[in-house]
Amino acid sequence: MLSLKGKLVLITGASAGFGRATALKMAELGADVLAVARRKDKLTELTQKFSNITAVEQDITKPLSTLEKVIQNRSVDILINNAGLALGRDPIHKVKIEDFEAMMDLNVKALVRVTQLVLPKMIEKKSGDIVNLGSIAGYFAYGGGSIYNATKFAVRAMTEAWRQDLSGTGIRVIGIHPGMAETEFSLVRFRGDHDLARKPYEGFQPLTPEDVADSIVWSLLRPKHVNIQSMVIMPTDQASIGMIHRRS
Ligand code: NAP
Repeated sequence: MLSLKGKLVLITGASAGFGRATALKMAELGADVLAVARRKDKLTELTQKFSNITAVEQDITKPLSTLEKVIQNRSVDILINNAGLALGRDPIHKVKIEDFEAMMDLNVKALVRVTQLVLPKMIEKKSGDIVNLGSIAGYFAYGGGSIYNATKFAVRAMTEAWRQDLSGTGIRVIGIHPGMAETEFSLVRFRGDHDLARKPYEGFQPLTPEDVADSIVWSLLRPKHVNIQSMVIMPTDQASIGMIHRRS
């Protein structure tokens, strides 16, 4: 089993949900974590828990100047491309152009730009891990989710293609594809409406951020010759994207 001790880990979207849980878990295991997100207060909370977490206040859909400065003379060992969002549940004829652009900008374009920032040094030292957070929405399309689906299908496609691009470099490319998990994701999707946001999780046990963080960390700790190419993680009561057994 590998160790995370002293590894430099960059996690996007580390202020909430999967990213936050992963940052905490990795810091506990001795990694040096660069926690990237926009909300300073949430990042500060993390740095107060662990001295080996550094807050990087950066909107990754904007020019990456802060992030660039932070990693200038350092070589990232593990990149976790986690930041992502869905906006609304509109059918395609009602999707707003600004929602379309926001999902593409963060889930696809920013993921590519952040990866391009860290990859040259990984290639140079012939070692590194890239973890892309996809979703089961990248396997199964659903009405009202087409743009989010498109972004997550894109993440899955890039994960597969990058593994081929990087063949022989020693870099592992890992795809993590969760089903329904209770985080701020739904609150963002429903624009802060708590009642609407809670509804999808009623009557069953969704995944927790820690469940997903466990899977990410487990994948990274496999021996160097083992690449967990893709992991689909679902709540037991979610048999498929649209089939949830609600107990109450
Ligand atoms: P979340 O709780 O909403 O967290 C999203 C994170 O992304 C936050 O830390 C947020 O921080 C950050 N973020 C948003 N916009 C950003 C930007 N422009 N620049 C930098 N950071 C930004 O979501 P989550 O559920 O943990 O989701 C994490 C990933 O898993 C996403 O890619 C999502 O698509 C995927 N996923 C989620 C689920 C689910 O059911 N929850 C299922 C499958 C896959 P700030 O607001 O502070 O910037």
